[in-house]
Amino acid sequence: MESEEAPGVVEMFFFPFVGGGHQIPMIDTARVFASHGAKSTIIATPTSAPLFQNSILRDQQIGRQISIHALRLPEEAVAPDAGMSATPFTDTSVLQEPLRLFLLDRRPDCIVVDLFHLWAAELIDGLGIRKIVFTGSGIFSRCVTENLRRYAPQEKVGSDHEPFLVPGLPDPIVLTRSQLPPFAREKSGPLGNLRKGEEMSFGFLINSFYDLEPAYVEYYRKEMGKKTWVIGPVSLYNRNVADKAERGQQASIDEQSCLKWLGDKEPDSVLYISFGSLARFSPLQLIEIAHGLEASNHPFIWVVGKIFMKSEGTREEEENWLPDGFEERIKESKKGLIIRGWAPQLLLLEHPAVGAFMTHCGWNSTLEGVSSGMPMITWPITAEQFFNEKLVTDVLGIGVQVGSVEWMSFNVEKKALVGREKVEVAVKRLMDGDGAEVGGMRRRARELSEKAKRAVEGGGSSDKDANALIEELKSCRKDT
Ligand code: UDP
Repeated sequence: MESEEAPGVVEMFFFPFVGGGHQIPMIDTARVFASHGAKSTIIATPTSAPLFQNSILRDQQIGRQISIHALRLPEEAVAPDAGMSATPFTDTSVLQEPLRLFLLDRRPDCIVVDLFHLWAAELIDGLGIRKIVFTGSGIFSRCVTENLRRYAPQEKVGSDHEPFLVPGLPDPIVLTRSQLPPFAREKSGPLGNLRKGEEMSFGFLINSFYDLEPAYVEYYRKEMGKKTWVIGPVSLYNRNVADKAERGQQASIDEQSCLKWLGDKEPDSVLYISFGSLARFSPLQLIEIAHGLEASNHPFIWVVGKIFMKSEGTREEEENWLPDGFEERIKESKKGLIIRGWAPQLLLLEHPAVGAFMTHCGWNSTLEGVSSGMPMITWPITAEQFFNEKLVTDVLGIGVQVGSVEWMSFNVEKKALVGREKVEVAVKRLMDGDGAEVGGMRRRARELSEKAKRAVEGGGSSDKDANALIEELKSCRKDT
């Protein structure tokens, strides 16, 4: 249901990409702006709308001006899949014409668009509608990417494993070429096109908060010369259990079973392990993780999402990759819980028994870990995750690295690159240690969590930035 526009109310459109890590924060962002008095419309596909309509209904029931507009596709067209199989390369161009018609009809004050809709910038710019870019990443990784592009230190080393310093940043950040995504190594290719989408934009909307990366926010604003509104962590906007449990997709386990399992565990004793919505490990890598976890002897919840199978659809193989007797042993000793598919991540991270997070450093997971005060074991795989790892371990000092050093595309088979010993060592280092190292990490993580919560409260930095964007859009109206 779309409501009539009240005079003086700013109308914002949100056009999320399809699938997990990009769709989820954009939906939350639309809800943030509706809570700040804007009229928010989420532009969805027929397959994506059902994934988040319940939370939007709940917002409508408390009087927010927020709605979903599902684009009508031509009869023969197939809507891009918004579920577990969506990837950054999913082609969404079938949405082009329906979006054009909708924009022409409604002419909003702005459209917040995900960078992954590679075709959308040209369309929106052509219609003369204000375009705000949502990148899905934080500021630190954008600064690293920008300075790799500017100074190209990666081109001055002799091998993929020779460390180099990224020049010009507020902290000494050392990387190797093996950790860089192709878009930082080459300037062409599909991801190279992303920069084009940023040109002519009114500014950037960033899911982060000022106190997480203050020096980088300042640096970025100064160096990029683009308006940047830092309005997160948007996940904190999910305040009731239903919103948290249903975020993104229906969880594959009911939240009561998870909470019951966690119920008799000591505070901070459980390690939560998840590698996001896209990463696929081979059975060989999963076996290494299983052995490492068992040897570390700490309770864990392990979300096993997609598994890389040589031939797709081999169900039996997909279910039987665990070491012999592993599942029975962890069940009996109540040491571990395996979730196959989708977990209610926000609910689990905020549970008092969960004391650390093994993460692939996807930006949302990183920010959600920070928001819940988690020290982390970092295991970056793809995208800008190696940069996020540096933020967590080297800048914020709230994590230990498992020792992943090779960037990989999310959809190729991952050989067992991180062996069981490394898993065991990292888990023990974080979960056994009450010494100064881990104590310091826990303290810093807790402080950051407090700062994250303050940022989204009335008068906090993210709250102010959201209001500032709305005011700016209002003043643009007066000028035209
Ligand atoms: N997520 C979840 N349950 C899962 C896996 C992922 O709720 O089982 C959510 C997670 O909370 C986060 C998002 O999906 O908001 C994943 O985004 P991230 O940027 O961390 O990684 P990506 O999936 O893009 O690699």
